[in-house]
Amino acid sequence: MNAMNNPRSTLHALTPMGQGSADVESLTSYFCRLAHSHGMSAQKLAIWVLAHFEHPVSEKYDWHQRKLSSMSVESEQWAAWLSELTGVDALDRLTLVPWRHLLGMPGIAPKSDRWCPCCLAEDKRDSREPYLRLAWELAPSDACLCHKVQLTSTCPHCRHSNVRNRAAIVVPGYCTACGGFLGDEEGTVATPESLWVARQVGKMLEQRPRIAVDGVVPLLETVIERMAHGQIAAFSRRYGFSKSGVWHWLRKGGLPNLKAWLTIALNGGIGLDQLFAGAVDDWRAPEEAPQMTIPLATSPRAGITSRELDWEAIRAKLQAMLALPMPISINEACERVGIGRKHAYLRANAEARAIADRHSRYRTSVRLEREADLKVRIGEILEERLAAGYEGMSAREIWARLDSEAQSVSGIFGHINQVLASKRL
Ligand SMILES: [Zn+2]
Ligand SMILES: [Zn+2]
Repeated sequence: MNAMNNPRSTLHALTPMGQGSADVESLTSYFCRLAHSHGMSAQKLAIWVLAHFEHPVSEKYDWHQRKLSSMSVESEQWAAWLSELTGVDALDRLTLVPWRHLLGMPGIAPKSDRWCPCCLAEDKRDSREPYLRLAWELAPSDACLCHKVQLTSTCPHCRHSNVRNRAAIVVPGYCTACGGFLGDEEGTVATPESLWVARQVGKMLEQRPRIAVDGVVPLLETVIERMAHGQIAAFSRRYGFSKSGVWHWLRKGGLPNLKAWLTIALNGGIGLDQLFAGAVDDWRAPEEAPQMTIPLATSPRAGITSRELDWEAIRAKLQAMLALPMPISINEACERVGIGRKHAYLRANAEARAIADRHSRYRTSVRLEREADLKVRIGEILEERLAAGYEGMSAREIWARLDSEAQSVSGIFGHINQVLASKRL
């Protein structure tokens, strides 16, 4: 990495927990820890962030009703805002956004908040801040691979559910109803099926998918080719999909949901991570059916909304823009490389911040220069008047003699009064 201008971040640059691992932190958790580190409630921080980005906030706004860690556009927006404010890039990795073009929406969000009590207890034992894992946000996975226990959703102290992060003030790991530690429980032993799913999901979360939007259909075609010699009817029948659902994936932009992908992985003898990395060249599906089964949900449809970009090249272009003689704004820079500002902060944070910082310093210097010119002009008007034998001049009279551009400078009377004061008039 080149030495970049890294202006001090507006919010603390907290390091996300478990980055690049199956235990990666969720953005919900990160947000709560960030609020805590600023001595604020999560609710207050949410409202501050929205106001900072001039986003309207309704009076009934409840931060915890928003899904910060999901695949939604809203999650992506929050990840970008927090990346911009903290200077920590790739915060979308703490959400399911990177998989949005691969995973159908239905069946992905858990019905209630879940956690592994052993993970939280271990965080505490190892003197780490307890944090919430992104893996707990994927409904089909209901176990912790690390501790071989089922995820739980009720507080061991007060037995209430949805007490993980649905409150104005949240300390990850503690019940929002009674304040008790959510890790004070042994956990029940997970089934082999649940552990298999947890392993797949964990591997999936370790890295961004390499399959781009336009690679999804070719990947599905390869899947059907290898698992059913390209026969859609046979493929659907054998693995319990509806034929129209599979057609929908191939022709209408539909997407298999997570359970459908897991069914493909299980029966095809291939990891979810390998499928999403497009590592299918040497893959041969086994003849034998596996010993486990995964109950299927209905097949989904969902829009395709993102595309894979060459970030190395984009970052290089952004770096080159830092050498332009005339500094440009971050919006202009984004337009030139054909990306959104949100994505720039998520995937090229240092470059985006350096461009924004350079432009803001440039604007400040332009403003200071204009003000200096203006003061010279005011001084000249005054001198002329004094030379003509008058006692002095009112600020209003000076203002009337300026050209319309100078008249509209913000704080113009303040500048005039400063010049008057300096001449003791
Ligand atoms: Zn665990
Ligand atoms: Zn409780």
